[in-house]
Amino acid sequence: MKVLKFGGTSVGSAARMKEVAKLICDGEQKIVVLSAMSGTTNSLVEFSDYLYKNNITGGIERINVLEQKYYDVIEELYTIPAYNFEAKTIIKSHFDYLRSFSKAVFTLFDEKAVLAEGELLSTALFHLYLQEIGEDSALLPALEFMRIDKNSEPDTNYIAENIAKQLALIPDKKIYITQGFISRNFYGEIDNLQRGGSDYTASLIGAAVVADEIQIWTDIDGMHNNDPRFVEGTKPVPVLHFEEAAELAYFGAKILHPTCILPAKLANISVRLLNTMEPSAPGTLITTKGKNGKIEAVAAKDGITAIKIKSGRMLLAHGFLRKVFEIFESYQTPIDMITTSEVGVSVSIDNAKRLDEIVNDLKKFGTVLVDKDMVIVCVVGDMPYENVGLQAQVVNALSEIPVRMISYGGSNYNISFLIKSEDKKRALNALSQALFN
Ligand code: ASP
Ligand code: MG
Repeated sequence: MKVLKFGGTSVGSAARMKEVAKLICDGEQKIVVLSAMSGTTNSLVEFSDYLYKNNITGGIERINVLEQKYYDVIEELYTIPAYNFEAKTIIKSHFDYLRSFSKAVFTLFDEKAVLAEGELLSTALFHLYLQEIGEDSALLPALEFMRIDKNSEPDTNYIAENIAKQLALIPDKKIYITQGFISRNFYGEIDNLQRGGSDYTASLIGAAVVADEIQIWTDIDGMHNNDPRFVEGTKPVPVLHFEEAAELAYFGAKILHPTCILPAKLANISVRLLNTMEPSAPGTLITTKGKNGKIEAVAAKDGITAIKIKSGRMLLAHGFLRKVFEIFESYQTPIDMITTSEVGVSVSIDNAKRLDEIVNDLKKFGTVLVDKDMVIVCVVGDMPYENVGLQAQVVNALSEIPVRMISYGGSNYNISFLIKSEDKKRALNALSQALFN
């Protein structure tokens, strides 16, 4: 069985939903994970925001606009009046439920329930459409099997056990439709896997049912070898190692949520990235075996701050790095890149909320210098150090660019550079020119 996930834009209109239906109705048994229709989750966040601020009118106005959008969609989606009527009933009941939150004090729990409505709506309407066109589909309720534990980590045993139970209740269906993103938490309350979490749902379900393959359908033809917004003529990478894909997802390839890779990787299930606009394009296959000794792609991550701590005390001392790291830990700020010398250490962070406090504390250990508005450019591929010349090729490509930090050897799959954001476009193009032309 395959697991296919379609994102918000893929189900963002009646026309797109019909395209998805064409794609999935091929007689093969599958689980289809859907996001909320594009724009919906953002609207629900806004709605919640109004309710937190106790601006009931603002909230209701926002939600009524969204409701009308759904009525417009179903006019186009269904042709048989009975289905159209049924769809109206579904929409009305979901939006009446949403409006009911304006009557009491709004809490974090309420917000989670509100956010879940997006995926509950998209799946209900899509399933109804499949019914109208006579397909053998069933709704698989994610809230009955997706669960996160006390640390907000997915409870994989629970998920596997309970999705099996749900599937057994409605056996032998060709198409199972389920909600991405939403889950219950340890206490049984409605929760979610964080924004963009539908990819994660697909990967978790894929692992739980031991799927043949997990497919993530978006509107791009796979992971590209460079950022198409800055570089012309980028191409999709045909095959990536799980490790390479994880690096790329974190470092900026927006196509895939970074957390999504892990469950698939642990269960050794390939992930294929495909394009709903161009369904026959090969896309990108993410698997345990990438291409050996090959540089595959370049990605960049913006909004990085570099911090250098210089100290004579670091010379021949032990425990210095621990003290430095402890400061970052105490301000819950993850470190991305790190480079060291005998008298100094540089780190980069992408969350500079606590920067002032961090710098203040670091001054106890040495002279602190901060560079803001930096970018991490990362080159991803299979690059074991025995493979002579790969890193030289990469470094040479940036010979014209001022480089603040270089990180190599942390894994076999990544060489990262920290540069000024004004040099980003030049650096990405220079790398494409040198590595892929
Ligand atoms: N609908 C959710 C969001 O917009 C989850 C997703 O689309 O993956 O974040
Ligand atoms: Mg998404």
